[in-house]
Amino acid sequence: MKLISNLFTKHCSCCLNCGSLWSGEGLLCHPCLQTLHRLRVTDPMTVSALPVQALYRWHPGQSDMLSRLVLALKGGNQRDAWRFYARELSPRLALTLSPKQRLCIVPAPSSRPQAKDHAFLWGEALADSLGAHFEPILKKTQSHHQRGADRGERALLEMETVENYTGSVDFSTKTRWILADDIVTTGATARAAFQALGSPPHFEVWALAQRSLSCGASRDLL
Ligand SMILES: [Zn+2]
Repeated sequence: MKLISNLFTKHCSCCLNCGSLWSGEGLLCHPCLQTLHRLRVTDPMTVSALPVQALYRWHPGQSDMLSRLVLALKGGNQRDAWRFYARELSPRLALTLSPKQRLCIVPAPSSRPQAKDHAFLWGEALADSLGAHFEPILKKTQSHHQRGADRGERALLEMETVENYTGSVDFSTKTRWILADDIVTTGATARAAFQALGSPPHFEVWALAQRSLSCGASRDLL
């Protein structure tokens, strides 16, 4: 399924959902984007006691379109599409910015060290869109891949900051830390990132979608 989806999006510019040749920037045609619009979130939410801003609310099994989109955006090949969705979310985020705070966006780390995957592209696109600092300073400390891990194992997922990172990271309390990730489900990844950054006073998650745990969707999509 994932392989077919990847091949499709790599070699065809058709709408991911309906096959229309009039696909737009977000891998979907205009009518499909309008349908997707109904799944938009308008307010911030809280997951695992951490603030979350998401563009969509995702109930796997209820929206095949959003499920296809999430799959198609995985990996590191969809920079333009991620920029499109970052621009969609940015106006809402811009209203929350304060000139007194230094906005610092950190991508959720890939299982493969140094890999520029979907979270990297999402964080980079958000940072560009909002004029924020982009600091890919987290790495996973465990070698197991998150996919296939059950919820208990996920809770143990640990991260740390990259030791030899040479960027200008400001760990002062005035920094507003943002974890950029494609999907927020249990919040385990967010909590691991929060701890790795030293539990800063200003921390939140910006995601493409907040995923419901109900509906019995495949773990493969997590
Ligand atoms: Zn379409």
